[in-house]
Amino acid sequence: MNLFQLFKNIRPFVKPYKWLVFITLTLTLIGSFMAQVNAIVLDRTVDAVNALVGVPDFAWSKAAKILTIISIVLLGKELLSALITFAQNYFGERMRIFVSKDLAQSVIEKVLTFKMAFFSAGDNETGKLQTRIDQGVSSLSRTVQNFFIDMLPLFTSAILALILMFAANVYVGLVALCIVPVYFFITYRQALRLKGWRRDMRNYREAKSHGIMSIIESINVIKSFNRERIEGDKQLEIQNQVTDNQMKTRKVSFYYNGLKSFVKQVGTVLVIILTAYLVLIEYPGMTIGKIMYHVMLFSNVVAPITQLQRIFDDMNDALIYAEGFFSILNSDKDIEPSGEYKSEKVVGNFKLSHVDFTYPNGKKALHDINMEIESGKITAFVGLSGAGKSTIVNLLDKFYDPDCGSITLDGVELKDYNTHFLRENIGIVLQKNHIFDGSIEENILYGNPTATHEQVVDAAKKAYIYDQIMELPKQFDSKAEELSGGQQQRIAIARMFLKNPPIIFLDEPTASLDAIATEQIKNSIDAIKQNRTVIIISHSISQIIDADVVYALKDGHVAQSGDPDEVYTKGGIYKDIIDASARSLNIEKIARTIENG
Ligand code: ADP
Repeated sequence: MNLFQLFKNIRPFVKPYKWLVFITLTLTLIGSFMAQVNAIVLDRTVDAVNALVGVPDFAWSKAAKILTIISIVLLGKELLSALITFAQNYFGERMRIFVSKDLAQSVIEKVLTFKMAFFSAGDNETGKLQTRIDQGVSSLSRTVQNFFIDMLPLFTSAILALILMFAANVYVGLVALCIVPVYFFITYRQALRLKGWRRDMRNYREAKSHGIMSIIESINVIKSFNRERIEGDKQLEIQNQVTDNQMKTRKVSFYYNGLKSFVKQVGTVLVIILTAYLVLIEYPGMTIGKIMYHVMLFSNVVAPITQLQRIFDDMNDALIYAEGFFSILNSDKDIEPSGEYKSEKVVGNFKLSHVDFTYPNGKKALHDINMEIESGKITAFVGLSGAGKSTIVNLLDKFYDPDCGSITLDGVELKDYNTHFLRENIGIVLQKNHIFDGSIEENILYGNPTATHEQVVDAAKKAYIYDQIMELPKQFDSKAEELSGGQQQRIAIARMFLKNPPIIFLDEPTASLDAIATEQIKNSIDAIKQNRTVIIISHSISQIIDADVVYALKDGHVAQSGDPDEVYTKGGIYKDIIDASARSLNIEKIARTIENG
């Protein structure tokens, strides 16, 4: 991304604050004029004082008059400058804060529209995406601030100072002008050398936050295996790379900064020598006052250039981070597709014909899947881990699109459905359900934000969690994150009951529940299957054999399908799984124990 593209991209975010821009720019211009006052006053003072010294009719009253005028002008100017700087900083900062808010909000809203494939891509893992967004927002809003608060005033002041120098004496003006490109050239070389490293720095920062995030997420595993050292070493490697990179960057910066400081001093020396020479040869208009005048103006000319490196660094950061940031904000290829179709009523009959699917990382998870899933029946997906069961559910919820083949719901292609409408009609309960930061009530309400408290209570009862909630000190206002895994699972089930959709996907819904809760939930699910499509993925033999239809999956293929008892009698993967489950449950012994009891 170049500077022009950067500004083009930022423009829409600055536009709503054009009044702030106007005020800041006006203040900038006034501020730039004020910055030259010191040089002009000094010029006049030196010459006026010089004219008084050694004159026979020297009068203190004249000197006092000059000093009073100087004091009033300088103090008045400082007062005004302070006011202008305050207003300029205030309005500039206001703009930065507002632009920063708008940038952050837009990117969050954009990311929410993206399809699942975006989030499962390696580049967008939690910490990395967050760093890219954070760094993007802060460096872009810094650019806005740099431009309006730092760069513009400094450069306007520099140009004005240069004009004044030229107006006073063309030769001195030319010397000042010659130094500027040298300075620019050095800064440009510096920026060029640092560019690659700064880009690497971005990647390291992303890797660092991702590393920290994954440590926090898996802290119990790390501790239980005593792997703190290994994790620490992994981080040390990243830290070492970051440190090396930082040291290299700093070294180059110090070298170039020294060079620039030297060039600036050379410029000042040249201005002093030239002006002193012009005074000595009594060049018209050149007085001792002009020596001070030019030196001060020259320092105004180079002032922005001394700041240039910082601004350049920030700009370079902005260019690098803006690439990542705007690639998210302007990306339309990742937006979740949606059709227009909304039916009067969803019945819930799915048909999959010759469906293949490959995950974004290239893993082909489904091969030539053909299925008919009917409403009013419980359909169970059976298979070993990794067989593709959850992947089918992902496709039915339109989280991903199939590579080929067709998926229809009630005879209409799934891709033609309005995605929001479709998901309003589907309820999902996963093995590990997400509980949001908030109360139990808020978490259940996620299923239907407009539901009443009575409906929430009803849903909690159906999910057999009501009694346990009422035992808590704050009941429905208790924090949901403090509940146990099994209780959270039932909150997720209550959420689904409250949503009350015609299609229900249950992916190992009772995996983390105790036996009694499992039985209760099974009864609830059996009770709501009427006039609904229920797809259940389960390793629980009791849930599988109660299904109306089973699909046994193996390596992304449908190996067997039909009535559970019929499929069992045919042998094959389904029978193998059921037999293994029965053996693992030690059913014969359980039966004997129960009989004897
Ligand atoms: P199951 O639900 O039967 O245990 P899945 O449908 O989760 O199996 O997975 C099927 C295959 O797809 C597995 O090989 C798994 O590694 C792969 N897979 C699942 N999710 C993803 C993903 N987000 N990205 C890439 N591959 C995935």
